[in-house]
Amino acid sequence: MTIPFERSAERRDERLRALVAHAYGRVPYYRERFTLAGVTPSDIRSVADIGRLPLTEKRNLQERPIEEITDRTVDPDDLVSTMTSGYSGEPFVIRRTRAEQARWARTWLDDLLRAGLRTGDRVATIFTLREAQPDGIGTLSALKLVRETVVDCSLDPPEIHRRVAEIRPDFLRGMAGVVDRLAVEIPVAELRHIRPRVVWVSGEVLTTVARTRIGNAFGASVHNAYGTHEVGLLASDCPGGELMHLGRSDLLVEVLDHDGRPVEVSGSGEIVVTALDSFAAPLIRYRLTDVVTRGPDACPCGRAGPTLTHIEGRSIDYFEMADGRRIHPYRILGPTLAAAPWIRQYQLVQETRERIVLRCVPHGPVDDEAGRGLSKAVAPLLGPGVDFRVESVARIPPGAGGKVRAILSLVEPLATGRA
Ligand SMILES: [Zn+2]
Repeated sequence: MTIPFERSAERRDERLRALVAHAYGRVPYYRERFTLAGVTPSDIRSVADIGRLPLTEKRNLQERPIEEITDRTVDPDDLVSTMTSGYSGEPFVIRRTRAEQARWARTWLDDLLRAGLRTGDRVATIFTLREAQPDGIGTLSALKLVRETVVDCSLDPPEIHRRVAEIRPDFLRGMAGVVDRLAVEIPVAELRHIRPRVVWVSGEVLTTVARTRIGNAFGASVHNAYGTHEVGLLASDCPGGELMHLGRSDLLVEVLDHDGRPVEVSGSGEIVVTALDSFAAPLIRYRLTDVVTRGPDACPCGRAGPTLTHIEGRSIDYFEMADGRRIHPYRILGPTLAAAPWIRQYQLVQETRERIVLRCVPHGPVDDEAGRGLSKAVAPLLGPGVDFRVESVARIPPGAGGKVRAILSLVEPLATGRA
């Protein structure tokens, strides 16, 4: 371990102690939660003690009045409020001071620059209009350092394509699923006219298939970034490899298993964050509900610091089966999609613990045999007692926020026994 690393670890311990003391002293919600958990600030000496602090869910903060979740010495009216897109079905207002908001925006901007954004670029941004909030690039655009045009991602793909083609962006950024829809629906010959240097995607899980498809369709390099409304950018593509770098010095990131224990390298679990610099409305051991797989603690590219190999999606989207198993939907989709190149778009819905429906928009007419073939391919995974049906539909409408929820479980999750 190098000396600078030691020093930064010490500094992180110091910052965690300061945050915990602040939250305990000034934010009623945390004081109450810490007290219930039998923890006081003096119990938290270093990052190694973080497991003693209780976990917080979005729901815990949503159900409290603003005065209980913010620093009581700050006037809530002085804070910047931003609403999440409700991707998880839980719209949530995030509150930050102006300085905190600027730092949040900076995390995204830094990544856009790393991905290759340059002065003078024309930028097309395909997001929900609500999400096109000042996230750093807006500031550059206001200063005329770049020219950004926002395109509403809830439009039909041909219309998005028409607008993006008009913009002729050097830098195209957007929701992973929407950009992939363009790659699926618009002929490559037309997309190739757009000629962006970089396609930067975020906001949705990017599968390997989608990454390849987007790169081929646009003839550009694809950069994937993962972050949230709550904390900003968390991880993004290593420029030289397949891993994603995690490594904000102002965030403590934990990856926890179902029992709340940290997973080892290569293990998968839920990502939980502590924002060391957010004092107005602290986020301490905040559950993001996304499931990630830990990569090595140093990237082969030479960069020190933790990595992720995979972002699987949200834990709420796991399919809980009648026999108690929790199946990740990708495990169902893997063999399904491999066996069915005729599927143009799909929505996988777990309707009950015994019934899963795959709604497919096919490329062309399909016969019943194709659907039966898929059911057969998936049967060994699901086991007896689970009805897996394939339905052919003309269209899958996008949900709130403009995102098609490709994977959806209507089954109320069982309690996991976690704090
Ligand atoms: Zn790397």
